[in-house]
Amino acid sequence: MAADGHPRMPWLAAALVAFILLMIGSRSAALDHPFESHFAIVVSGADSALARQTVAVLTKSHQEMASASGVWLPDTVRVIFVGRTQSFDSIVGGHFPDWGVACAVADENLIAVRSPRDYPITQAIPEVLSHELAHLHFEAVVGHHRPPRWMNEGYAQQFAHEWKYGDDWVVARAVFMDQALALEDIDGVNSFRDAKARLAYAESYLAMGYFLKTYGWEGLMLLGRSLREGGGWNDGFKAATGADYVTFQKEFAKHLRDNYSWAAFLGDTVLFWILLVLIFIVLYLMKRRRSALKLADWDRQEKIEDVLYSPFERAHEQPGESPTQEDEPPPATR
Ligand SMILES: [Zn+2]
Repeated sequence: MAADGHPRMPWLAAALVAFILLMIGSRSAALDHPFESHFAIVVSGADSALARQTVAVLTKSHQEMASASGVWLPDTVRVIFVGRTQSFDSIVGGHFPDWGVACAVADENLIAVRSPRDYPITQAIPEVLSHELAHLHFEAVVGHHRPPRWMNEGYAQQFAHEWKYGDDWVVARAVFMDQALALEDIDGVNSFRDAKARLAYAESYLAMGYFLKTYGWEGLMLLGRSLREGGGWNDGFKAATGADYVTFQKEFAKHLRDNYSWAAFLGDTVLFWILLVLIFIVLYLMKRRRSALKLADWDRQEKIEDVLYSPFERAHEQPGESPTQEDEPPPATR
């Protein structure tokens, strides 16, 4: 593998530490299931703290996936944290999108992650690791079959709990603008730019959620088994769910329209109330500004009247007399 072409002593030390930790971590998991003893994690390119965290996260994630599906990863998983001095593309063997943080290579049981020591990764590392492990696990569920990308990504995101803040808006805006992606188009996600890729991932998450809600985990496992045993996608889908795939896609598109129209979206979220409060604040500020303008107008009117009428008032005044004298009471007599 390309990572071996850049041997560095700290890497080797980190890998050794990680491997020892892994053996400790996986042995306790091994008690739960006999196949577990084959599952191991080897980490390279990470310092000891990161390697320890990686082993702990992956061991826990694997247990969750295995107990949910009854499918265990049979082999050693290698995790490579890729630094700036290395080519990510050469390690994963293909063109990797700029926005990508990590990649799972199922054929090699490999997870490659951009090193958080070298790259400003905003996503939490445990989330990234669980996501990539779920891709490897999905491969174990479906065998060599390659299901549509949305299902693979949706599966990974469900395990990594990756519904991000703002994803609701991304989908709602796309539905409103009639730009929601058809599920089959998500296959090309690696060539999408940032915003479109985010929409593709959000839709994948929703599509998998919709699938699980409609057909249950059992439906997914039935489909997985059918694919694993060499069945085709359309037949397997129909056998597992009772619906054909084209119908499922149409139903999901309708599900998006029904749940992410602006009216449904706003009526269902706290954003509606935030918007309502904002409207009241804007109305209040407009009212205050109108009152201030009216007062200023009156003030100006008064000044104009003063200028216009004061010469007439002065014309009634007696020369040499001041108004104050006129108003004064007559002098007191003794
Ligand atoms: Zn993914």
